[in-house]
Amino acid sequence: VVRMDKVNKHYGALHVLQDIELEVTRGEVVVVLGPSGSGKSTLCRTINRLETIDDGDIYIDGTRLPAEGKPLAQLRADVGMVFQSFNLFAHKSILENVTLGPIKVKGMKKAEADKLAMKLLTRVGVANQKDKLPAQLSGGQQQRVAIARALAMKPKVMLFDEPTSALDPEMIQEVLDTMVELAEEGMTMIVVTHEMGFARKAAHRVVFMSDGAIVEEAKPEDFFTNPQSDRAKDFLGKLI
Ligand code: ATP
Ligand code: MG
Repeated sequence: VVRMDKVNKHYGALHVLQDIELEVTRGEVVVVLGPSGSGKSTLCRTINRLETIDDGDIYIDGTRLPAEGKPLAQLRADVGMVFQSFNLFAHKSILENVTLGPIKVKGMKKAEADKLAMKLLTRVGVANQKDKLPAQLSGGQQQRVAIARALAMKPKVMLFDEPTSALDPEMIQEVLDTMVELAEEGMTMIVVTHEMGFARKAAHRVVFMSDGAIVEEAKPEDFFTNPQSDRAKDFLGKLI
C-alpha cells in the first residue's frame, strides 16, 4: 500500500531522512520506534505530503506522490492521519467533525455522511457524544473521534503519530484498544508510539529509526528480545 524508495529530506544542514526504504503491505501494522529527533514524525508527514521530500519516491497503492492529475486532497484522503494533539475543529460538533471531510472532499450527501459518521462513532464508542463540542469530551474520547474522522475518508492506510502521548494514563488504554481493533479488522497502519505493549500485541513489524535512518527492522518478538544494532540496544535499555 505504501512504498518509500530512497527517500531523502533535509532541513538545512540536517539530513532528517536518509535513504528511507519502507514498504507496507495491505493489512500490515508497522510500529516505528526511535529516540526523540530521529525523524519519526517527519517520516509520517512525508507520506501524506504535509512535508515535501528532496529526492526519492513515495507510492500509495502504486500511485506516485504527488501524482499528475489527481488532486492533492484526494491523495491525502487515501492516507488517514491521527496526531498527538487531536486537531478536531473546535467550533464544530463531534458529528460535524466526522462528516466534514466526506461532504467537502468526497462530495457525499449530508444524510449519507451522517449515517457513515454515526457508524464510525459507534465503532469507537462515542456515538452518544455526537452533538457536543470537542472541548466537552475527554482527551481519550477526542482522540477516538479523531480516529473516526480519519476513517470516514476510507483511507488506504492510517498513520498514527504518538496518538496516546498527550493523554492521561487512564485514557491511553481506550485509544490503544480502538487501534488494536482496527488492526484486527485488517487496516493497514503505520504507528509511531512509545507504547511497547501495543507494539508487542499488534505490530507485524517494528521499524527502528535513529538519526534519520532506518537502522533495524524485525518482528516485535525478535526486536524486543534480540535487537541487533547497538543503537537499538541502547534505546531499549533506556525504556524500563
Ligand atoms: P519525537 O520522538 O521527539 O517526536 P521525531 O522522531 O518525531 O521525534 P522529528 O519530529 O521527525 O523527530 O524531527 C527530526 C529532526 O528534524 C529533529 O532534529 C527536529 O528538530 C528536526 N525538525 C523537525 N521539523 C523541522 C522543521 N520544520 N524545521 C527544521 N527542523 C525540523
Ligand atoms: Mg515526533
